[in-house]
Amino acid sequence: MSVPTDLLAAPAPFSPSQKEYLQGFMAGVYASGSIPFVGTHASGQLTATPGAATSGNLAAPDEETVHGTPLGDLCKEERWKHDENPLDAWERLLKHADENKFPDAENMYRFKTHGLFYVAPAQDSFMIRLRVPACEMTATQMHGLADIAAELGGGYAHITTRGNFQIRDFKPKDIVRLLTWVQDLGLTSKGAGADNIRNVTASPNSGFDPTELLDVRPFAKGLHHYILNHRDMYGLPRKFNVAFDNGGSISAAADTNDIGFFAVRVTEKTLAASPSPTRVEPGIYFRVHLGGITGHQDFARDTGLLIKPSEAVAVSAAMIRVFAENGNRTNRKKARLKYVLDSWGFEKFIAETQKKLAFHLGRLPLEACEPRQPVVKHGWLGVAKQSQKGLNSIGVGIPVGRMSPKQMHAIADLATNFGKGEIRLTVWQNLLIPHIPDAFVESVKRSVSRMGFFTEAGSIAAGVIACTGSRGCKYAAADTKAHAVEIIKKLDAKLRLDSPVNIHFTGCPNSCAQHYAGDIGFVGSKLPDGAEGYNVVLGGGMDNEQGVARELFKGIRATEVPALVEKILVTYSGKKQRGETFV
Ligand code: SF4
Repeated sequence: MSVPTDLLAAPAPFSPSQKEYLQGFMAGVYASGSIPFVGTHASGQLTATPGAATSGNLAAPDEETVHGTPLGDLCKEERWKHDENPLDAWERLLKHADENKFPDAENMYRFKTHGLFYVAPAQDSFMIRLRVPACEMTATQMHGLADIAAELGGGYAHITTRGNFQIRDFKPKDIVRLLTWVQDLGLTSKGAGADNIRNVTASPNSGFDPTELLDVRPFAKGLHHYILNHRDMYGLPRKFNVAFDNGGSISAAADTNDIGFFAVRVTEKTLAASPSPTRVEPGIYFRVHLGGITGHQDFARDTGLLIKPSEAVAVSAAMIRVFAENGNRTNRKKARLKYVLDSWGFEKFIAETQKKLAFHLGRLPLEACEPRQPVVKHGWLGVAKQSQKGLNSIGVGIPVGRMSPKQMHAIADLATNFGKGEIRLTVWQNLLIPHIPDAFVESVKRSVSRMGFFTEAGSIAAGVIACTGSRGCKYAAADTKAHAVEIIKKLDAKLRLDSPVNIHFTGCPNSCAQHYAGDIGFVGSKLPDGAEGYNVVLGGGMDNEQGVARELFKGIRATEVPALVEKILVTYSGKKQRGETFV
């Protein structure tokens, strides 16, 4: 097939959006193998001058400040963003693919906005992180990701603690094919890294949880698509997390997010018990919590805001814009939303948000809402009756979220053959297969077990999570995933506890697996002799067990971790009062 050069050489200049479309189109043609990819790529003539494309969120190149911060004061990442919007990195990606070369630090940062991470020195390869909005995907998408992992990647994938997928071991020459293949599946990795809004999560049983107050998927997906279609939703001062909690039985860890939307019920009775000047009709609303960042030992706190579900996307966008305009762009350690809130307080932040909205932001005391029902710890695991009669969801335990392509295909086949082709991912690095008729529950459980996964566990396995660790992340001081699996293998069957515990392994203080929010948390730390070790924190929790864990042990050798955990849990079991949880 010849390249339609007349299209590329059209006399009238293309608008930026036409250029974007055409670049995407040409990349799609390339990905299908129709155009040889040598030297300059087919869409070269569409290249905008770096920095000349609409810069979206940041100041134009001739301006002296970025949202009030003088250019000279910007940290280097901000300067890169200012000089050229990372959304416009397509030409750079094509060049790296063409030359089969890994990026330097600046390009590495730009590529993260497209969900692509060069993970040297842990691995000399790229990792891709996807967005799976509302943690919901189809069996067809799972098949597609399995094929990508097998054909272009290293033959495995991981479910992450934001209920999405990461796949590793890609060579530079494959990154364009990878990105376009992902998009052909109806998925995207755009904004999954760098200073952007990460995967928008939701309670994984939304739409079939008999105890939920609201199916929150439409709002999570609404925000996802709003982000994808608004350039000023990218290039924030730092990463940003948003989660939607359906008020039901399974935790979405929404209180660990920058914005957590919690579905709540307001009734005549609750309104009467807590009179408020605000006039509110009984119904289901979202309460808005702000400022969660457990690595900095803070959970999202209730702001008093009570909004209609239909207002959630607009409120999110307004808050994100306030953050973009006022977050710290000079010091990345102080750049998360928490620090704007610490310096302003909720009142000022809400007042600034209000200025960007065409409707009034209402407040209501927490006591005027029904309390949230307690989440069921490890409640995602195993068989649960759905709100649809005769149907069940089956929670599948996947140690540290790792799946081979064969296992991914097998899960997708189960979802297709026994369910409705739907799969939900959890922030506990596991998945649910919903819509299984009563008659097929046992068959599905047996199949899951034959794959090496589990649908039943002791008090430990279902609550063990781990960040990427030293096998794939340069910041890691320890092989978190291997050590987490070791705990499951050695202790899950051996220890019988009467209340479940969560054990979180993170490889460094960045806390991707939120060690401060686990009953037992491990944070990687190199020992003086260079061996892998951990500092150990105890007593954290989320949701109704919310608490920041406190450090108890320092410099524990990784090989001693299972014995230490056993000792801690045996002591807890022996000394605890009746009904007392670990927290
Ligand atoms: Fe890497 Fe640290 Fe995050 Fe683990 S917690 S994935 S080591 S950055």
